[in-house]
Amino acid sequence: MKRFTSNSAGGARAAVPLGWAIGGVIAAVSFAALLVFLSPPARAQEKLISDEINTVIPHAPYPVSARARALHASIPVADLHADPLLWKRDLVKRNNIGHIDIPRLREGGYALQLFSVVSKSPKGENYVKNTGDSDGLTDRIKRDGWPPRTWNSILQRALYLADKLKDVEKRSDGAMRIVRTKDDLRRARQDHVIAGILLSEGAHPLEGKLSNIPVMYDAGFRVLGLTHFFDNEVAGSLHGVSQSGLTAFGRQVIPAAEAKGMVIDVAHASEATVRDTLAISKRPIILSHTGVKGYCDTPRNVSDATLKAIADHGGLVGIGYWDAAVCKPTLKNVTEAIVYAVKLLGPEHVALGSDFDGGVPMPFDASEMAALTSSLLDAGLDEKTVRMVMGENAIRFFSTYLPDK
Ligand SMILES: [Zn+2]
Repeated sequence: MKRFTSNSAGGARAAVPLGWAIGGVIAAVSFAALLVFLSPPARAQEKLISDEINTVIPHAPYPVSARARALHASIPVADLHADPLLWKRDLVKRNNIGHIDIPRLREGGYALQLFSVVSKSPKGENYVKNTGDSDGLTDRIKRDGWPPRTWNSILQRALYLADKLKDVEKRSDGAMRIVRTKDDLRRARQDHVIAGILLSEGAHPLEGKLSNIPVMYDAGFRVLGLTHFFDNEVAGSLHGVSQSGLTAFGRQVIPAAEAKGMVIDVAHASEATVRDTLAISKRPIILSHTGVKGYCDTPRNVSDATLKAIADHGGLVGIGYWDAAVCKPTLKNVTEAIVYAVKLLGPEHVALGSDFDGGVPMPFDASEMAALTSSLLDAGLDEKTVRMVMGENAIRFFSTYLPDK
């Protein structure tokens, strides 16, 4: 199991001649099953290598009804998770690759975007089982010219990407502002500026030290994910080895981060980690990007019961748009997943959690969000619910849970 999940798919393909040498139908069938099992790692690994994987699946323009267009124009769109900081492209310009940049956020009607910071990714990354022993990011970041201080320090990588968002803010000509407090968000709304919030995808940048919480806070991070693809010092990952919950250190991290006014994100966390977090957290938490198992049963998705527990704790669940979240990356499936989540959790607990620029093909980009508004109306959601899901829930959440000052 470990051999197949920790090796790259290239290594697995090299095993083809061996499989056939054994001969017989049984070997062929079991090898076919192996290939099916290994195809997600193959795709996930590519995401570290090239921005080219962040494609928009070719499609005819989506229909947007007049009613939807008018409604969409009045919605402050908000999204709990996108990864544009991981790539080399200039986010101030309109790009013809990827899913997000400032011009496309403006076209899509965005008022709030959470910018995720990815700081370590195991080689052969997959949704089933990863160790934290390897890091596929190191070669990439050297190639892309990240400063040497980031090569061996996960914390420095997070701080570097936080600085990158500050540089985008500075050059955005007032179009995007990083918000750190309730007041910042209120002012950004007033000034019709896109609010950006920094999110760490996993708490490994703490490097096992509580003293790094204020360091990340001072760099602007207001959302602290606990895990990414591997178990870390804080908690067990949904795609890790142990499937364990919070560590002793993790039990110290959550109250310390919440005391600073940071929001905890349980995306990529094991079910045990989510349970442990709900048991000790004093504030609502988010699951920034996911699908719902009851709608689409994949290893990336979280059980209906766990999502319900997050909602019952006052939290927000961001629904993603990519294949492992909604089974097929289409506007129809994204719509159906959101409608399912609204029915399961109640309209006030569902938000968008695109995973734009997360190394996955998408059915639309940030500029096309009116199509989702239209599709949600067509699916029978009332206007109030569409407004909540498309943005108002996330804005209300951060207006409540960002620090006062
Ligand atoms: Zn993610």
